Amino acid sequence: MNNKALYKAAGIDEDLYSFGESIEETLKDRFEAIDKTAEYNQIKVIHAMQECGVSEACLTGTTGYGYNDLGRDKLEEVYARTFHTEAALVRPLIACGTHALAIALMGNLRPGDELLSISGLPYDTLQEVIGIRPSRGSLMEYGVTYRQVDLKEDGSFDFEAIQNAITDKTALVEIQRSKGYSSRRSFSVEQIGEAIRCVKSVRPDLRVMVDNCYGEFVEEIEPSDVGADLVVGSLIKNPGGGLAPIGGYIAGTKEAVDNASYRMTCPGLGAEIGPSLNMNTSFYEGFFLAPVVTAAAVKGAIFAANCYERLGFECLPNSTEPRYDIIEAITLGSAEGVCAFCEGIQKGAPVDSFVRPEPWDMPGYDDPVIMAAGAFVEGSSIELSADGPIRPPYNVYFQGGLTYPSAKLGILMSMQRMKEEGLLPSLS
Ligand SMILES: *Cc1c(COP(=O)(O)O)cnc(C)c1O
Repeated sequence: MNNKALYKAAGIDEDLYSFGESIEETLKDRFEAIDKTAEYNQIKVIHAMQECGVSEACLTGTTGYGYNDLGRDKLEEVYARTFHTEAALVRPLIACGTHALAIALMGNLRPGDELLSISGLPYDTLQEVIGIRPSRGSLMEYGVTYRQVDLKEDGSFDFEAIQNAITDKTALVEIQRSKGYSSRRSFSVEQIGEAIRCVKSVRPDLRVMVDNCYGEFVEEIEPSDVGADLVVGSLIKNPGGGLAPIGGYIAGTKEAVDNASYRMTCPGLGAEIGPSLNMNTSFYEGFFLAPVVTAAAVKGAIFAANCYERLGFECLPNSTEPRYDIIEAITLGSAEGVCAFCEGIQKGAPVDSFVRPEPWDMPGYDDPVIMAAGAFVEGSSIELSADGPIRPPYNVYFQGGLTYPSAKLGILMSMQRMKEEGLLPSLS
């Protein structure tokens, strides 16, 4: 069977297959540039592992208290070297990205302090951590106040407003690299660096934390290379490389990371405690694979943007814009569109492809959310996945694909479902 026949057997109409091939044909140069970035980051990670002297002994784990866990300690060194920071926490005890961010915030803020977000409203789940939406145990309940500087109309940082919002009370500045569930652009590391310089020009001592979710390895530098004191993310996104079954990381200055460690476990114990269990091999191997897996996801996002834009849908980033994370937002304009798209992604998955996703009230989110994920790790969004809150303008956020061909199949399937529902214009 040739490719065309195989796609047909997998449920993709011939005209859609040809459409996809013609789009892909135009993307060769861009894919080549992405491969170069992956190559750079791959060598960076291998070099960090070599410099740290990662050995076979690092791949076994500990249980219980996890005292003197060699593999865990070396892995944290590998992350710190890769991100060019003094220290890092990389743990299966960190349940997800939100948890990592919450630990970093709670560890570095005290009653009476003010948290300042300079990239507008933070990611949905963080709103409850901060107390923007009242929530039990939030920072707000502990007397940490919150202030926000919105982005300008064009989605850029408002430098003047940032400088005016910084006071003696400001104790931590937060920047979100990726757009999350919003319609803005994601920030390049260089743009983040500019914002950090702006903050430090007012108060050089002020700590800046970057929510780095979905951004790792998309560029050759990370926010910690341009002055961020803390970078935080999830291991079931880019840096876990699809192999980490859980976890989060916090990398940064020794003091800021230590502060976070006392919230990760508790005061007095910090990072000394917390076993790696049986996670070391998947954490190391996942981090090793992460640059290439991230590249596959970026290629998938570019393929999606080029297909859907050609079909008349607004895409962010659009078909030609540079990439600063792995997310593609596609404005489908209706709840039916969002659902059909997600159904298609689900049908293209290796696991649970027969399941039909439906919108539900997810914890931490304000609107019903539909999620498509036929993943090896539940909820892993470095794997082929799509989600969208059921609210205008009915954006779907597509991301992941451990391999480019799997991402491509997912996108073709999404168009197939849209076509079946009468939601696509004619391809000819
Ligand atoms: C995914 C994400 C988070 C939260 O991570 P979870 O692992 O889902 O808790 C936070 N911020 C941004 C920008 C994200 O994309």
